[in-house]
Amino acid sequence: MAFVSTCPVSAFSGDAAHRDLDAIGAPIQPMPADPHIAHALARISPAQIHRIIATLVSFRNRSTLSSMVKNLPPGTGVTAAADWIYGQFQAISAQCDSCLEVHRDTFTQAPGTGPHARITEPTTLTDVYAILRGTDPRQSARMLLVTGHYDSRDTDVMDVHGFAPGANDDASGVAVSLECARALSKLRFPATLVFVAVAGEEQGLYGSRHLAQEAKQQDWQLEGVLNNDIVGGNRTPGDKFQDEHAVRIYSEPVPAAATPEQIRRILMLGYDSDSPSRELARAATEAARTYTGAPATSSRPVASGLEPVLEFRADRFLRGGDHFSFNQQGFAAVRFSEWREDFDHQHQNVRVEDGVQYGDLLQFVDFSYVARVARLNAATMAVLADAPPPPVHVIYPFPKVFVFNNSLNSTTIQWQPGPGTPADTRYEIVWRPTAAANWTRAIPAQKAEAKMTGQGQDATYSVTLPISKDNVIFGVMAVDPQGHRSPAVVPWPGR
Ligand SMILES: [Zn+2]
Repeated sequence: MAFVSTCPVSAFSGDAAHRDLDAIGAPIQPMPADPHIAHALARISPAQIHRIIATLVSFRNRSTLSSMVKNLPPGTGVTAAADWIYGQFQAISAQCDSCLEVHRDTFTQAPGTGPHARITEPTTLTDVYAILRGTDPRQSARMLLVTGHYDSRDTDVMDVHGFAPGANDDASGVAVSLECARALSKLRFPATLVFVAVAGEEQGLYGSRHLAQEAKQQDWQLEGVLNNDIVGGNRTPGDKFQDEHAVRIYSEPVPAAATPEQIRRILMLGYDSDSPSRELARAATEAARTYTGAPATSSRPVASGLEPVLEFRADRFLRGGDHFSFNQQGFAAVRFSEWREDFDHQHQNVRVEDGVQYGDLLQFVDFSYVARVARLNAATMAVLADAPPPPVHVIYPFPKVFVFNNSLNSTTIQWQPGPGTPADTRYEIVWRPTAAANWTRAIPAQKAEAKMTGQGQDATYSVTLPISKDNVIFGVMAVDPQGHRSPAVVPWPGR
């Protein structure tokens, strides 16, 4: 399977070498595998995932509204599920010398408004999360977050008593968060990792909205949010079109938090496929190339083939998820979902009708598939947490911002190190034809004879490439000595 096309998008073939964009640099190579990361990924286990999802199903109905019901049978309902998830994070922490800060954020959600409100009285809601603090004091403010929602629903979104197993939607996503926590808590990273299970998704993204607002208010430096919702890999008998080796990654084209003026500039520059969320999605495909993509090798012992498919929209058609809450606060956030959903097995009462089994049952979850998705999430978090901070103030130096000033067939790009960048950081310039989905070529800044003025944190790098910016989109990545790459940052006209 091909992850990145190395061919320029062209109606013709055979002439590519004569083009400026192919004359320098080289096709982007996968990052070298980091044995620590590969080893951590090998810990992610389908058996653990089975156990997690089966336990979440055993709470029978995890409707967020069930937190307000007094007479639930013991061991059922959303609060019992929150207690259990909290205990799981604590158990994981106990095995890593209390390396995790485990939080339980309980708050009262005010009712929604309008005739379709899915919360109609003040309702207790709980987000559960665990933080693995970064070890580099200069970088520990940087955060990567993985989340899934632990609430569930059946046909009637207001029902708190019927069986609503939510095995795929979204016990599978919670299993990804917990398995990422278990596997990655064995390692230490310069940046901070956050493992999350939220409630309130089915009632209207309430848990994630609360957490995203808190993150904004507390100045969390969230560099990436990975939302896993419906990653169970549905194994309905007879479904010929499920692909157990593909996962969709949805990312917003234009930031939800962009102002009208920012949107105008994004469209003017043709940057409507270069939101920070989309660069995050591309970074996940980079992690996949190294860690989950191809057949197993000695350095990739557990890879079993998972192709991330970039989906160039914010979510599935007319639908949404918890990543929206983070997008709205201005954070880069993407959604992972299985290749093909089965709507008989989500948001349905458990029943048999005309011989067809309905309901989001454990029996339809492919635990090996969830494990592959968890490995991709863990690999993405680990690579980005190990990589240096993305460069900042990445610009095409124009004397006057947003005024057309030259017609050069060469391109100058400038950037500065992000806050906390280690001294041994290198940079790579990447590019792709404007119509290509992913970065196609790269050149190390050193090889492109980058000039540096100033020192350390105040350094400014400048590189000039003999490639016209008219036909390509450029990006700059920060790379550490082991080859971990940051997401790309696109240059803006600036000074
Ligand atoms: Zn869901």
